[in-house]
Amino acid sequence: MADETVLAARELYRFYRAGEEETLALRGVSLRVRRGETLAVVGPSGSGKSTLLACLAGLDEPSGGEVRVDGVRISHRPETERSRLRARHIGVLLQSRNLLPHVSVRDNVRLAQRAVRGRAAVSARELLGQVGLAERARALPRQLSGGELARAGLAVALANSPGLLLADEPTGELDGETEQVVLGLLREHAARGCAVLVVTHSAAAVRVADRVIGLADGRTVAAAAERQEERDATR
Ligand code: ADP
Repeated sequence: MADETVLAARELYRFYRAGEEETLALRGVSLRVRRGETLAVVGPSGSGKSTLLACLAGLDEPSGGEVRVDGVRISHRPETERSRLRARHIGVLLQSRNLLPHVSVRDNVRLAQRAVRGRAAVSARELLGQVGLAERARALPRQLSGGELARAGLAVALANSPGLLLADEPTGELDGETEQVVLGLLREHAARGCAVLVVTHSAAAVRVADRVIGLADGRTVAAAAERQEERDATR
């Protein structure tokens, strides 16, 4: 059978040095996400979640270890190559949102598509329809509600039909109903074969994940097993 692994991270380390002080944000993190799988990463503030996500997305370089997406190494390459690979293979949904403020929602999607050569597999119109924003295509980001912004961000992340979607607290500021809509959309994309990794504090997001790993002090921890049981029990 073909290897279904989309994201493979091996022994990731990330040191930060500020003067005399050295922080070990990641201390040997390894993980895999397969096609169609949703992995939730949980952990207290400062445990290394954002650092991990940035390394997986090629936004940051790990000090040690390796990240591969669809078999292609994304770590330890010049920034321009990393961003080219990211545009083609990875959808990234960050807390700061991924929308340009001065262009419409539709143009945000189109600009993301233009970063990749060749014709986009899905039109901006179709993508906005999928996230329920067909009527808001011409609106500027500041004219959108919190829930609409989250869905617009998702449309941009999915603009190039990525094989991997990385999301940092995608439902962080949403009410329960909107959270369910966004989680439903993530599940839908996983069902179509996308590999999804979500960094989250939300119990609802953990429940929809196929697998959960915990981070503490830059390492993966067994605490995730308890959450896994909790999740299985409530599923
Ligand atoms: P989380 O996302 O789980 O809150 P982070 O990845 O943001 O954790 O941070 C992990 C550790 O790395 C923390 O101790 C944090 O203070 C430190 N850290 C994060 N970014 C930097 C940076 N740019 N410079 C120095 N230390 C950092």
